[in-house]
Amino acid sequence: MESLFGDQDFLDKNSGNNFADIILPVPIPRMFTYRIPSTLKSEIQIGLRVIVQFGKKKVLTGIIGKVHNKPPQAYDAKPILDILDAEPSVNPLQIRFWVWMAEYYFCHIGEVMFAALPSGLRLSSESKIQVNPNFDPETSKYPLDIREEKILEALENQAELSYEDCEKILGIKTIHPIIKSLVAKEAILIFEKVQDKYSPKVETRIRLVPGIAKDKNALQAVFEAVQGKPKQESILLKFLRDIPVFQRPELNEKGLDKATLLEEGDSESSLKTLIKNGVFESFKQIVNRIEEVEAERKAYALSSSQQAAFDEIKGHFETKQTVLLHGVTGSGKTEIYIQLIEEVIDSGSQVLLLLPEIALTTQIVGRLKQVFGSKMGVFHSKYSDNERVEVWNGVLSGRFPFVVGVRSSIFLPFDSLGLVIIDEEHEPSYKQFDPAPRFHARDAAIMLAYFHQAKTLLGSATPSFESYSNASQGKYGYVSLDHRFGDATLPEFHLANLSADRKKNLLKLDSTRLLREKIQQALDQQQQVLIFQNRRGYSPYVQCEDCGWTGQCVQCDVSLTYHQFAEELRCHYCGYKEKVAQSCPVCGSTQLSLEGMGTERIEESLSLLFPEARLGRMDLDTTRNKHGYQRILDEFAAGQIDILVGTQMITKGLDFGNVSVVGIWDGDRILNFPDFRSGERAFQQITQVAGRAGRREVKGQVIIQSRKPENEVFENIIRGDYLEYFRQEMMDRKKYYYPPYVKLIKITTRHTDFKTAEKAAHALHHQMAKIPIKKIVLGPEKGVIARIKNQYQLESLIKLEKSGATQSVFKENLTRIIEELQAVPDFRSVRWVVDVDPN
Ligand code: ADP
Ligand code: ZN
Ligand code: ZN
Repeated sequence: MESLFGDQDFLDKNSGNNFADIILPVPIPRMFTYRIPSTLKSEIQIGLRVIVQFGKKKVLTGIIGKVHNKPPQAYDAKPILDILDAEPSVNPLQIRFWVWMAEYYFCHIGEVMFAALPSGLRLSSESKIQVNPNFDPETSKYPLDIREEKILEALENQAELSYEDCEKILGIKTIHPIIKSLVAKEAILIFEKVQDKYSPKVETRIRLVPGIAKDKNALQAVFEAVQGKPKQESILLKFLRDIPVFQRPELNEKGLDKATLLEEGDSESSLKTLIKNGVFESFKQIVNRIEEVEAERKAYALSSSQQAAFDEIKGHFETKQTVLLHGVTGSGKTEIYIQLIEEVIDSGSQVLLLLPEIALTTQIVGRLKQVFGSKMGVFHSKYSDNERVEVWNGVLSGRFPFVVGVRSSIFLPFDSLGLVIIDEEHEPSYKQFDPAPRFHARDAAIMLAYFHQAKTLLGSATPSFESYSNASQGKYGYVSLDHRFGDATLPEFHLANLSADRKKNLLKLDSTRLLREKIQQALDQQQQVLIFQNRRGYSPYVQCEDCGWTGQCVQCDVSLTYHQFAEELRCHYCGYKEKVAQSCPVCGSTQLSLEGMGTERIEESLSLLFPEARLGRMDLDTTRNKHGYQRILDEFAAGQIDILVGTQMITKGLDFGNVSVVGIWDGDRILNFPDFRSGERAFQQITQVAGRAGRREVKGQVIIQSRKPENEVFENIIRGDYLEYFRQEMMDRKKYYYPPYVKLIKITTRHTDFKTAEKAAHALHHQMAKIPIKKIVLGPEKGVIARIKNQYQLESLIKLEKSGATQSVFKENLTRIIEELQAVPDFRSVRWVVDVDPN
């Protein structure tokens, strides 16, 4: 792709240019050149949404990426059909960011656009019909049947009809044959109608007619008139309660939402009567879906150590773009963010605060809302298309100078970012797996900030090795906060040996005496307990005690998890489920046993051990509906749950003062993930979940259950010795060539047939060996899960020297190689997935 950034490319208005390169949401590695019709010339600008014909039939929404005067060599440029915006939806910095992302993450700019632009801002195209202007019923040689006539009649009143309209008119479901016949009879034409998917929310509002609102006597007269009509009177009173027109007549102008006015069972017909009698009038208004909340409090004054950290951060920003704030859990990082955000938005710049997915629904957002109120936009992954468009537009219009969001909020149309904060920067969920672009939101956000000449603050109690090593090399500024806010102290750790304890335990429960004692102590003192186990369901294995059979997914190479509540075996990779068999499908034995503990089973076993305790569970299964998560948190906050069992959902961002005990059910499971990052991840995960304990007055205790308590990772966690752990691990990373010492690229070859996948993966290796740069290529090896949804997964790992030049040589060659391989007949349906900086 040519450079986008020649100065002439960013001319705001197009003067004499005849062509535009359009970014289209298709996985093809380039932009597409279209002709600018003379009628549109004066309006053309970079970043406008346009519609163009793509291929024979499709009409697509695109973004103008560049304007120029070079006609395409290979084809005749088609004209741009229309412009959709008065002002650009996307600014030049965003386009620059998209180009960078496509380049860095080995994907196509169209894929980035597809991810970046809310689908509400793309068009939906729908087939519609209209009367053929050449059609004359008098002279037509084809007679029409009754149904066809009905459609034509309808077209006399309405210029166009959708297929759905036609179905309604005729009251039938199969409309296509009739439409086909009408087309054949030259009576109608079909056309593609393209329209915005976004639709604004329209509210009906009610207000007093101005004459009455401004005249007390008139209002008095109305009251007299409704005497003895309690329904009308109640509506009137309700209205005046919400809108006190006597004191503030100007409030009437805005009116009251009709749904609010009628919410307590008031009758619609009484309101209608009041409108008919000239008391009220109704009007329509476009409203924000995202409610306005007023700020409630000022930022807290910082403690002296917070203030020192704040000053240090600002000091580093004088010379460095990025600063790492390494602050233990509960040290008050959020309050430091608040002060920084306030300064930056007061100076007129924008701020983006990234949070991991799940933390976004928790307390931290509430805390920020209290301070920033309606200036703050929240960009949530559970938002509807329409809501996303409103956040997008709120950023464009300046309504939200500050946005808190999940990883995709880096695509919002910021034009003057001053600060980007990435909280919990070590979080693996910042990386997008599927689909492309497979970006890491932290790394991409640092780049985004760079394009804006903005500062970046990374915050974590357990920094990623990447960030920590950047800080220790001086590339990032480094600021540390090593104690908790106020009088709170860091929790005390205990290791509980599962193998030693379990022998003595007749119940064969996977819990140690130590954990049980600590839970009991907490309960006795009315304190709360969190139990962490990263496995949902009841038990991860169903096994036949006679022949050893285990339940496996039919589409993936994983064992099925037993879910007791649903009485089902489920695959956590593809969602496959089956009813639990009563006997072994291989040998017929009825001796089936459940092995391993999921959250569901832990909850059950704790409720047997502590019958007086109130238990709660937080995992994917209990939080599927929109408010499930919040409801459990509210109950926990209100003290209605004594012991909360949960997956990694309970490790992030929770700030509850009464939690004294945190139990880590299976510490070994956390360590055993087969990946070079497993140690780092274990350190992070355990430290984070432990950090939920003892955040205020009560002292925190953390019990880690393990069969191998002598593992040195535990020792470092217990000592809280991040640095020592970092040093040890980094020696290994260096020795075995792993990040951050090298650049890692993972290529997964996928196919339904194992042999084909294997052949294709080997062919890839053969070709990659010829790329003339220094590299280490590992594999191909079966993925951690060798088969997912019937697709075999073979993984190749490429280690490159960390240099932009090396990476681009590799990228160019790899792109070519994959294209060539895809042209090989045997490999047509093989998929290659390239993941840069895989997790
Ligand atoms: P972190 O984000 O580092 O885990 P938090 O910002 O959540 O820490 O702070 C921990 C607790 O201390 C929170 O309840 C927070 O409201 C409180 N806190 C932190 N700083 C202050 C301050 N300056 N004044 C009052 N309360 C504070
Ligand atoms: Zn069996
Ligand atoms: Zn499966």
